[in-house]
Amino acid sequence: MALLAIGMCIALSSCKKAGISEKAKKEQAYSKDIFAMDTYMSLTAYGEHGEEAVKAAEEEIHHLDNIWSIVSKDGEVYNINKKGTGKISKDTKTVLEYAKRLNEETEGAFDVTIYPLMDLWGFTTQKYHVPTKEELRQAMARVGQEYMTIEDDTLTLGEQQQMDLGGIAKGYTSSRIMEIFKEHGVTSGMVSLGGNVQVLGTKVNGDKWNVGIRNPKGNDGELIGAVSVADRTVITSGGYERYFEEDGKTYHHIIDPFTGYPAENGLISVTIISKDGTLADGLSTALFVMGTKQATEYWKEHHEEFEAVFVTDESKVYVTEGLKDDFQSDYDIEIVRVN
Ligand code: AMP
Ligand code: MG
Repeated sequence: MALLAIGMCIALSSCKKAGISEKAKKEQAYSKDIFAMDTYMSLTAYGEHGEEAVKAAEEEIHHLDNIWSIVSKDGEVYNINKKGTGKISKDTKTVLEYAKRLNEETEGAFDVTIYPLMDLWGFTTQKYHVPTKEELRQAMARVGQEYMTIEDDTLTLGEQQQMDLGGIAKGYTSSRIMEIFKEHGVTSGMVSLGGNVQVLGTKVNGDKWNVGIRNPKGNDGELIGAVSVADRTVITSGGYERYFEEDGKTYHHIIDPFTGYPAENGLISVTIISKDGTLADGLSTALFVMGTKQATEYWKEHHEEFEAVFVTDESKVYVTEGLKDDFQSDYDIEIVRVN
């Protein structure tokens, strides 16, 4: 009897121990900060497979960075920009299919053949320059995604065209990271790619994640609000991310293909919240170019696919209907409704 009692005790205590360590294993976080795609990135995965998942994700980031960088000599974008045509991988094809859809639906506001204009303004080399009318005219004549064709795995650009996937690449990358996390058995995690956040599942305690949205007029870290999300991406485009100043005027990196100038329509940041990272990234750039009125109309037509937060230069904050219970802000907000 005494022996049995001791035996039970051992069994119970080992049970309890296993119970605690299982919980601890589930909650342990593996985080890593890296620099890629010209930006600081931070990856976190929870659970016992966190470390291997983050390492696999990091490899994928470097791979995608290499194929899409405008300067990596063995990359797809670099070589196609040089030769006008070339083979593309499945990843590139997928991104370009999104780009095609966005270009058509935004009537050209989103255009990955924007490269000649990015280059002319100096954003590709950091040799910034306000172009002349003639320079703009020449560069704009080389922009137009409708001239780009894909046949099987071969991409051909229009005459003298060059592409820049900077408006959509990070969203695709964050979605790929979520897939990699899942393949490794991770159910909770998050990535931030230069402020573009995507989360997998909920936090380990079951709560939604809180993702801050920067105040475009404030300093780094100052927020206009925060959104609570699970299994979503929160991607922001803002003129404050990359810009230069000349003669007291600021010129940022999101170019309106119709004017050749940095988009200037009163919208100073666009945040897209969606399940789909690639779509969200493309849309954040596209709707920034379109301006509040057109962007709102676009959302009404596509409200099943995403939610959005628009901030104007008068510090007005427009929040789409589906976010109304998940958006916290000290600012006055206006809810945008479908009807
Ligand atoms: P994002 O921060 O996602 O808005 O991306 C901005 C980047 O997108 C720029 O740095 C360019 O690489 C690229 N870009 C700029 N203007 C456009 C445009 N009208 N359409 C597509 N990509 C653009
Ligand atoms: Mg974007």
